[in-house]
Amino acid sequence: MNKYTIEQFNKLFPNEDICLDWLRHKLYPQKIYCTKCKKPTKFYRIKNRKVYGCDLCGHQISPTANTIFDHSPTPLRLWFYAIYLMSTTRCGISAKRLQRELGVTYKTAWRMFHQIRSLLQEDYEPASGEFEVDETYIGGKRPGKRGRGAGGKTPVFGIVERNGKVSALATNDLKSSTVIPLVKERILPESMVYTDEFPTYDSLKRHRYNHKRVHHVSKVWVAGNAHTNTIEGFWSLLKRGINGVYHAVSQKHLQSYINEYSFRYNHRRDETPMFLTMINEINK
Ligand SMILES: [Zn+2]
Repeated sequence: MNKYTIEQFNKLFPNEDICLDWLRHKLYPQKIYCTKCKKPTKFYRIKNRKVYGCDLCGHQISPTANTIFDHSPTPLRLWFYAIYLMSTTRCGISAKRLQRELGVTYKTAWRMFHQIRSLLQEDYEPASGEFEVDETYIGGKRPGKRGRGAGGKTPVFGIVERNGKVSALATNDLKSSTVIPLVKERILPESMVYTDEFPTYDSLKRHRYNHKRVHHVSKVWVAGNAHTNTIEGFWSLLKRGINGVYHAVSQKHLQSYINEYSFRYNHRRDETPMFLTMINEINK
């Protein structure tokens, strides 16, 4: 991963005007569809305002419309800087720190985080290969018993392709009727699926997967190629992050944190710096 420095950030986004122009060209590289002229037309920047006007009829549009920046009184440059801060840490940063760095209220910082995270949801096509499938529990006020069924915790189901991407979903339960459809969304039949001995996975063979198990109960962690160490690594990264940075995460927001960590994990070896990968998600 190439590092993206604060000097590079300042050079790319020196002021609010340039941020707005960047956004305009990112979202509308060519002409813009003018709803008054009912066709794509050229737009020009209106001086001292945050809008662009149609060359033909003067109709005005704002490039922040229908983006996470819509109706936000916070300058775009601060939004971009918040994305920069989020992209430069491996374990995430807190809303408290964002509040301090940006000089905004805690409420604003929290809301910005939430909006930025909403961009970080990835799409997955079903694929064949070697996968690890596993489940864990996250959250809850009580320190909690280890293992399954720990009170107050949310079940999270995850899939990682060996040398590939991770996807994880907070679910209501870990029944086979919940989990198998999620497996099918990501993994094509005949693929190799490694799991532990959790009974939910009993039906994988019936669904035409090659299935190998490791027996964690008997303290067997690796048997040949069969292990779930990759997904376990992701779980510990996720838990460390959530416990260390976000303290208590409500069940309602857990998924957006999971998305943030998955995104970071999936792009950690990209050549493109994380900041550029994240900010390029804005026209999603
Ligand atoms: Zn027009």
